[in-house]
Amino acid sequence: MPIDPSRWAALMRGEDCPFCAEIADDNEYSLKVADLTVSTLRLEKDQRFRGYCVLVLNRHATELTELGDDEGAAFYADLRRVARAIQSALHPDKMNYCLLGNTVPHLHWHITPRYVDDPRWNEPHWADWDRRGEVAVRLPDRQYHQIAAAIRERL
Ligand SMILES: [Zn+2]
Repeated sequence: MPIDPSRWAALMRGEDCPFCAEIADDNEYSLKVADLTVSTLRLEKDQRFRGYCVLVLNRHATELTELGDDEGAAFYADLRRVARAIQSALHPDKMNYCLLGNTVPHLHWHITPRYVDDPRWNEPHWADWDRRGEVAVRLPDRQYHQIAAAIRERL
């Protein structure tokens, strides 16, 4: 779906950026798992993929090329640290990583554990959710906290 160019320009500048706003530890979309060196790990409430998280840079930047060498290396190190923790906690068959930002242009990695019984195994996790009629998988709160704790204790 196209976006109004002026709206996009504002988002790129960080105006009304949901990741720059004060984000509650636990909100409708995700819950905070941990603070890392230059980023924050959040567990998505939609758990179609068990352990699906986003890793959000702690400041507004829209492209990896905006990061200096140290910050870029730290962001990558945070990503690898999280990946190891998720693998250890949940034993997925494959890890997927993507950094898109076409909806919220604030650097954030989608970290998606994949499992061989996944009906979209050979496809990106995010494509055509709405058109396929797939619905979000919501868990009881205690299960979110169990997954978050399992990841957190392995970081
Ligand atoms: Zn932002």
